[in-house]
Amino acid sequence: SDSHFPVPVSPDEFDLSQHYPRYFPADKSGGEEEEPRSPLPRIRFADVGCGFGGLLVGLSPLFPDTLMIGMELRDKVTEYVKERILALRASNPGQYDNISVVRTNSMKYIPNYFRKAQLTKMFFLFPDPHFKEKNHRRRVISMQLLDEYAYVMEVGGIIYTITDVEELGDWMRSCLEKHPLFEAVPDEVVKADPVVKLLSTATEESQKVARNGGQTFHAIFRRISLPEE
Ligand code: SAM
Repeated sequence: SDSHFPVPVSPDEFDLSQHYPRYFPADKSGGEEEEPRSPLPRIRFADVGCGFGGLLVGLSPLFPDTLMIGMELRDKVTEYVKERILALRASNPGQYDNISVVRTNSMKYIPNYFRKAQLTKMFFLFPDPHFKEKNHRRRVISMQLLDEYAYVMEVGGIIYTITDVEELGDWMRSCLEKHPLFEAVPDEVVKADPVVKLLSTATEESQKVARNGGQTFHAIFRRISLPEE
């Protein structure tokens, strides 16, 4: 089904004006060279497997000047999130202009969307567990994918993961612990981070888990640099 959605060949080809029109006014190409404008903003947060978009909606007012994108594989779900954001923009003028969603396979195309060190936060909330051993390679956190995430994340950037599946929680934590470019964020910093509360309250999946009284397991790690970087 990958063939049914367009993927930018590189981050430079990713047209942000369609996603964040308030930040990227229509291109007036063809005219005289204009005064140099202030540099255009870049996407800083990515919600990988965003589902119905509850996290983006919760984060938007907390970081009103930060561009964020949800990445979602399912076409209908992506369309729903698009409509949801357009409706929020329409009923709250001047708000929710900083969030958008793209239909894509995040396991294949992260480097097509983001440049080196571009992202300051990445979210993996309630990812699919893929229980069977032979399907572990389909998990969205793995040593190989962490290499890619480390590449697109700024040093100091934070990766947030949460799940209600204990085995997957252990897996995500152990991959992050093993990876040389990530270190655990200390508990006191986690507790003070306003984003953390949203992990277990803002998304549709987190609300389902909470309704059923389920336990959750999070792993929150920081992108660090190697001495030679
Ligand atoms: N994060 C959301 C939440 O907490 O409500 C959704 C969780 S849902 C269990 C996992 C989501 O990841 C699904 O919407 C699924 O379509 C999406 N997904 C799975 N594999 C993906 C991939 N390779 N790229 C993008 N999205 C993916």
